[in-house]
Amino acid sequence: MTATAPTKLDVASLLSRRAHAIDASGIRKVFDLAQHLKNPINLSIGQPDFPVPQTIKDAAIAAIEQDKNGYTPTQGCHELLHAIWTRLGQEFQWHKDPIHGLSAIVTSGTSGGLFLALLCLLNEGDEVIIPDPYFVMYPAMGPLTGGKMVTCDTYPDFRLTAARIERAITPRTKAVLLNSPGNPTGVVLCQREIDDIVDLCRAKNILIISDEIYDEFTFAHARENGRFPSPALRTQDCLLVRGFGKTYGCTGWRLGYAAGPHELVQAMARLQQYTYVCAPSMAQHAAAKMFEVDMQPWVDRFEKRRDMMLDAFKEVAHVTTPGGAFYGFVEVPKHLNMTATQFVEQAIANNVLIIPGKVFSQRDTHFRLSFAQREEVLTEGFAILRGLMLAKQ
Ligand code: PMP
Repeated sequence: MTATAPTKLDVASLLSRRAHAIDASGIRKVFDLAQHLKNPINLSIGQPDFPVPQTIKDAAIAAIEQDKNGYTPTQGCHELLHAIWTRLGQEFQWHKDPIHGLSAIVTSGTSGGLFLALLCLLNEGDEVIIPDPYFVMYPAMGPLTGGKMVTCDTYPDFRLTAARIERAITPRTKAVLLNSPGNPTGVVLCQREIDDIVDLCRAKNILIISDEIYDEFTFAHARENGRFPSPALRTQDCLLVRGFGKTYGCTGWRLGYAAGPHELVQAMARLQQYTYVCAPSMAQHAAAKMFEVDMQPWVDRFEKRRDMMLDAFKEVAHVTTPGGAFYGFVEVPKHLNMTATQFVEQAIANNVLIIPGKVFSQRDTHFRLSFAQREEVLTEGFAILRGLMLAKQ
């Protein structure tokens, strides 16, 4: 057997501008620093800390055992699409109407749905308005799609309002990306705010893409008459993008769905056909049962953890009350006179892993912590962070 020759090609010079344009260095730096920690108090994790409900695990195993392992139809397996339409019918009175109305597609994660949507909408230089702070993938979708992601500053209350959006609109704006509950802030928009955005976007012929990956994790006070505020309650001119990973603790299964205007969803299906082909089959078969599982006990537990966080930082640092998800976006107290990145370095030196706001924003004044962690870990981590904040007073 001959030894493989070491690589001689200058592979870096072969990489596209697109590949070079994606900068993941901010978050990588945090994890590099954390590598030296033996047993860190990890408040950086963006996924729930509960196991997949047993009935869902059983359904995935059964699908594999029953040899349901081949490709599914591109748009998704029949049972799951049926479950999705039942859910959308109950929640929004949205019904499948392929002639001039609505369609749905099962995607490889929420990310898959967002990416396909933007690939279908954007020509070179077309613009999408995104909130700042944002989920890390949003700005990256500029170089990936050729479009331009225009950030809309939402400090200090983190509410993406119609007035703020209006200032960012140009003749090239094609879409606005809403994310409520939001990552990294947990802020939930109210229906009134959303309705104003719907009216603005209708007047300007702009599509709303609503990333509702945390919809189930909306706490009682942020619901309105028990309902989750969404543009879909008011219009069919929006693309809903949702996921199963966070809600049921199966982020690695890569499963989400998108529903909205038929022409757009059909275009997404054509692109999916030649890219992802379909979402993972066993996950789709299991997901058909997911809407039947009651996750409310976990949502209630996350709400209690949210309260623990608010309590820990009251009188020490400003945190906007999250209405959902499992993140707090905490302002580094001004008297410390340091950037969030500097504060995070200190926290890591003290064994607590958090993420600087700069990773999610053009500003570097806050940090994100995740309360998807056991209560005793939270108590310990919050005490250390408080200590650091009080140290120099
Ligand atoms: N949108 C938001 C706001 C997120 O926080 C995440 C994951 N952290 C995603 C989309 C992507 O989710 P998925 O794993 O389903 O692709």
